Amino acid sequence: MVKQTIQIFARVKPSVRKQQQGIYSIDEDEKLASSLEIVLPRDLADGFVNNKRESYKFKFQRIFDQEAKQEIIFEIIAKPVAESTLAGYNGTIFAYGQTGSGKTFTITGGAERYSDRGIIPRTLSYIFEQLQKDSSKIYTTHISYLEIYNECGYDLLDPRHEASKLEDLPKVTILEDPDQNIHLKNLSLHQATTEEEALNLLFLGDTNRMIAETPMNQASTRSHCIFTVHLSSKEPGSATVRHAKLHLVDLAGSERVSKTGVGGLLLTEAKYINLSLHYLEQVIIALSEKHRTHIPYRNSMMTSVLRDSLGGNCMTTMIATLSLEKRNIDESISTCRFAQRVALIKNEAILNEEIDPRLMIVRLQKEIADLKAELAMVTGEQRTEALTEAELLQLEKLIASFVEDQDPESRLEVGADLRKIHYCFHHFKKLLNDKKTLENTDSSESTTQQACQEPVKDEEYTKLRSLLKQRDNEINILVNMLKKEKKKTQDALQYSSTEKSEARPPPNSPFIAGSPAGQRTSFSSSLSQTQDLSVYRHRSSLLHKKTGMREEMSLGRQEAFEIFKRDHADSVTIEDNKQVLKQRFSEAKALGESINEARSKIGQLKEAISQRHLQQVALGIAESMAPPSTPDPQEQKLRAQLEEEKSRYKTTFMRLKALKVEIEHLQLLMDKAKLKLQKEFEAWWAEEASSLQVNSPATNLQDAAKPFPQQDQTQLLSKKSSQGLEVENGAGKLDVCGRNARRILPSPCPSPHSQEPSGSSIQLQDRPSSIPLTGDRQTDSDILAFIKARQSILQKKCLGSN
Ligand code: ADP
Ligand code: MG
Repeated sequence: MVKQTIQIFARVKPSVRKQQQGIYSIDEDEKLASSLEIVLPRDLADGFVNNKRESYKFKFQRIFDQEAKQEIIFEIIAKPVAESTLAGYNGTIFAYGQTGSGKTFTITGGAERYSDRGIIPRTLSYIFEQLQKDSSKIYTTHISYLEIYNECGYDLLDPRHEASKLEDLPKVTILEDPDQNIHLKNLSLHQATTEEEALNLLFLGDTNRMIAETPMNQASTRSHCIFTVHLSSKEPGSATVRHAKLHLVDLAGSERVSKTGVGGLLLTEAKYINLSLHYLEQVIIALSEKHRTHIPYRNSMMTSVLRDSLGGNCMTTMIATLSLEKRNIDESISTCRFAQRVALIKNEAILNEEIDPRLMIVRLQKEIADLKAELAMVTGEQRTEALTEAELLQLEKLIASFVEDQDPESRLEVGADLRKIHYCFHHFKKLLNDKKTLENTDSSESTTQQACQEPVKDEEYTKLRSLLKQRDNEINILVNMLKKEKKKTQDALQYSSTEKSEARPPPNSPFIAGSPAGQRTSFSSSLSQTQDLSVYRHRSSLLHKKTGMREEMSLGRQEAFEIFKRDHADSVTIEDNKQVLKQRFSEAKALGESINEARSKIGQLKEAISQRHLQQVALGIAESMAPPSTPDPQEQKLRAQLEEEKSRYKTTFMRLKALKVEIEHLQLLMDKAKLKLQKEFEAWWAEEASSLQVNSPATNLQDAAKPFPQQDQTQLLSKKSSQGLEVENGAGKLDVCGRNARRILPSPCPSPHSQEPSGSSIQLQDRPSSIPLTGDRQTDSDILAFIKARQSILQKKCLGSN
């Protein structure tokens, strides 16, 4: 058992503008802990300038200032927790802080650079690296990803996620067994045999989370996400299995929101915090106070799920993320205060070991077989379950002579054979019963005599019964254990019998269970993957299929999307990543070639060495000379070359392997960015379409369409004109030349509601005949929205130039 208080760390987010940064200092001098001092300037009090400043000091295990990189965060904070999970202890790392303070950045990582990957991807990488190194145990890894929003749990890895809104998904619910263990129903567990599989699951969950988010449920700031690595290990042949869980938790923003929305005017007491964080605070307070017997874990789902992590069987670490800009000082101080309370909580982590009943039965069966074999060797006879006819006959003879023998010293010798001993008992029992029936008919005197013998008989009876029952009991215990284990596994898998078939990952899911439980993917299999770069494309396209374009776009919409994409701030990131990816692919290709080269060189050298060897031997035989005592210098040279090639092969291989992980990561980042872009486009488009519906025909076109988000109007115009947009303003005739060029002739007052071709004020001259204007309301309104948006932009341009 390891007793430990919750470890607390602080991380300060880089300030965007230095002049807005608050005053703080970090003192690293103290031996065991660092301290953070935050100064709260008090400018105007009681009508005169008060130069006194209030300062607050908080202790942390360690404080990471603005320039701290992701790598050091992992090394100092996450690695020790991952190590203890590998040793069989439960672990939890949770990030706490206001929205925008860097929780997601710390736990999952930034969306742009590979070097920005956070604790989860680095921990997965570390865990799988360690598992590969340790061949003394058999490990099985499963992943689950839970989101808690508004007190409801959702499975982020549920295969149905893509098709539904968050609220439509089956809820993950909490079940408590008689031993007060928490089980999560409907939360799927997915086996991951490699780092790549686990990473895919992380990205899948994040993408699902993004899809489910709508402006109405700002899930990313108000929900908690719990990514859990379930690790079980056992030594080969042993029946003891160790289970450990590692929760990596990104909590909801801890900011206290003003009830009325009038920021700053209300007293702190009148503000409220995300409800489940409020309950978390209550649990923390209860745990940090001595002599409190009741801890209100059950008040919220999050505290129930994390019960072990808070004051239970777990090694827990908290990261307080701080944004120390002036306007955020208040929230940062409250985050630090919370951390100080958390630091008082003591946890007791124990090794979670249990006997696997299936293995136990197998072991016992084997033991029985061994003992039988041993017995057969000693007695020289093979024993079957029942006695043979001849044996029975012989036994009955023996019993008869024993019963008849009047000599008190006489003994019944049947040998060390339980079957024969049991048979004798049965036989005596039968004799006794027969005698009893006989005696019942006898005189009362004999009845009294029988009464004296009764207790003796009863005793024997009980003895025999207990002997007989002994085996039954043993079997019952084992069967019960099996049942219990089966139930546990079922609960853990969270597939209720009716939902089983739906909840199974689809056949093209990237997380289809790989090898059976207990088997790890061997190094050589990852080697073959490394050499086949098409695997990444395949996997990425699978993810894309899950998350990608959900509906076919009409032509007008496609065109608008192209422009939207071009002008979106994220397109720079996507382009940058594309370039990096291209570079990495060519690097990987070069490395692959170099590996192949080294491999064929190794083959050649081996061949040359054996040739040389044969030559030497043949020469020795031909000249009937004794083999030379000194090694052949030519062969030695070849061997040295071989070693060199081998080490070149190995280093290149390792480089390729690392590159592979990076490529995979970058691809997933890009998929996610693309999806985000599409989502934002759709939101913008929907807004445009609805404003179009609302606006009357007389409404000024200029107001009808909002500009694309995240762009500068003039920048957009300049880009567009450089990309072939032409305006013939006088007649209101717009010539839009692009990839999907077509002529558009709007009337001065287009009616957005008109769907009739004759009544339509818009004519599309190059419109494909397969898309009739009237038959496709969606396409028509799409095009209308797009045209309006463009008109508005172009009119603005014209106004600007006048
Ligand atoms: P939270 O999850 O707490 O709401 P985020 O992790 O989303 O906050 O961070 C907000 C923004 O700040 C993101 O754009 C993120 O990339 C950036 N950010 C946060 N921490 C850091 C850091 N240590 N270094 C660089 N950028 C950071
Ligand atoms: Mg976040």
